[in-house]
Amino acid sequence: MFGRAPKKSDNTKYYDILGVSKSATPDELKKAYRKAAIKNHPDKGGDPEKFKELAQAYEVLSDPEKREIYDQYGEDALKEGMGGGGASHNPFDIFESFFGGSFGGSSFGGGSSRGRRQKQGEDVVHPLKVSLDDLYNGTSRKLSLSRNVICSKCKGKGSKSGASGRCIGCQGSGMKVSIRQLGPGMIQQMQHVCPDCRGSGETISDKDKCGQCKGSKVVQDKKVLEVHVEKGMQHGQRIVFQGEADEAPDTITGDIVFVLQLKDHSKFKRKGDDLYVEHTLNLTEALCGFQFPLTHLDGRQLLIKSSPGEIIKPSQYKAINDEGMPQYQRPFMKGRLYIHFNVEFPESGALSPEQCKALESILPPRPAGYMTDMELDECEETTLHDVNIEDELRRKQQQQQQEAYEEDDEPQGHRVQCAQQ
Ligand SMILES: [Zn+2]
Ligand SMILES: [Zn+2]
Repeated sequence: MFGRAPKKSDNTKYYDILGVSKSATPDELKKAYRKAAIKNHPDKGGDPEKFKELAQAYEVLSDPEKREIYDQYGEDALKEGMGGGGASHNPFDIFESFFGGSFGGSSFGGGSSRGRRQKQGEDVVHPLKVSLDDLYNGTSRKLSLSRNVICSKCKGKGSKSGASGRCIGCQGSGMKVSIRQLGPGMIQQMQHVCPDCRGSGETISDKDKCGQCKGSKVVQDKKVLEVHVEKGMQHGQRIVFQGEADEAPDTITGDIVFVLQLKDHSKFKRKGDDLYVEHTLNLTEALCGFQFPLTHLDGRQLLIKSSPGEIIKPSQYKAINDEGMPQYQRPFMKGRLYIHFNVEFPESGALSPEQCKALESILPPRPAGYMTDMELDECEETTLHDVNIEDELRRKQQQQQQEAYEEDDEPQGHRVQCAQQ
């Protein structure tokens, strides 16, 4: 999937590690690995690093295709394009596959239960939509999911006889690598899933296929999972069901993971453990006091009221302690509930001249030092227009961007009017 001129990198290291010559036969490699791996096995007090190196060297040199690439281009070529630079594989698996898991009983590589290399299965991730009410009160959901499980009839072999043949197309690796010479010193390496066995590395004859799973080794199963959403959980938090994802032969089953997705709430907003709510007062309430009920996320009615004599200014915040969100795993601890007040003023024309006079007699007096008639005569008359300041600022900004763009793009003296959509 890439073309490049490969660097000549070191291509003798693996031979040195195994202590064999570059012309070693597969049999000699096998013997050398066997001897060195037993001697250096960590369970027998060997050096784990050395053990890993041995496995890596053997894995490459025992595979004719990989060995050829290594001999020609060295370790780097394998790391970049090829399946299995070695480092990603578990050295114990290589050891076990070599000795069939029987060597030295259970003290080697964690026993012989997995005689073959185990892959890590993929996790299955589902988003789970929750409301703020759910996160405040806690809830549980029953979800029915279908998953692959190992076929019980053939125990995941896929065949009636229990036999399976190594795929000839890929020699059991499940992957095929093709190398193309693009030019002098240029190679292209392509790795793709083997079409003959569809990546399994094995083939089963049609006659021998298991009747229950038709040779696929797994069958579909329905499972109901109960997901507990605990009080105080967060948007994006993961709830993990370990080992409940699709089963597959020689695979460590992955997890099913639910990721909480918080839906917007019409009234409350959450920030950490705090809740925010907006409330609009009219001018009389803001000046003379107010009280109103607020239905909380658990259905309780809170009575929100001002203290005697208290005046609320536009955009002012007030807070109520312990009425915010419960903390995750400490639900008796709660954040604050903030109330953001808007104050609605009467519309123009709502007050008659008489009402204004009455208000003036109550409200604070106008600022002192008003102008004399003489001074007024010297001033110019003006008119105040209504504006929507957000709109105007946005339009001005767009205009500036447009001008900057035109200056950048147009050759001097050739301004073209851009069509305004
Ligand atoms: Zn194959
Ligand atoms: Zn089966």
